[in-house]
Amino acid sequence: MAYDESNIFAKILRGEIPCEKVYEDEYALAFPDIRPLAPVHLLVIPKGPYVSLDDLTANASAEFIGGFFRAVGEVARKVGVVENGYRILANNGADAHQEVMHFHVHIFAGRQLGGMLKKA
Ligand code: 5GP
Repeated sequence: MAYDESNIFAKILRGEIPCEKVYEDEYALAFPDIRPLAPVHLLVIPKGPYVSLDDLTANASAEFIGGFFRAVGEVARKVGVVENGYRILANNGADAHQEVMHFHVHIFAGRQLGGMLKKA
């Protein structure tokens, strides 16, 4: 799937739609999810046109991929969720119900998060 520059996270990266910046570096931007599912629910997005983890890992440089995932860890440290624990999740494609076609990692924390995945 080709990257579509009109997706909502591309607009946030271009500053066309506001977000409450929690963390930013050359690889990533993090901000709260607009519909939080936990007391802490952040999104970390790469500063590059990647649709999914598949796209990122097939097409980005090792430096960029490393920089991005380092940023995910930095965000968790910055918001203070490491000690009690947190969950990261990235929906990729139709079966995972990916809604926004710009790769993103969710960070959930601040309560007991329950089992890993709902049974079908
Ligand atoms: P996914 O693609 O992994 O299913 O989830 C996309 C996530 O983006 C959803 O949790 C949704 O609440 C969030 N989201 C959608 N539009 C916006 C927006 O304009 N701003 C923010 N902060 N989050 C958004």
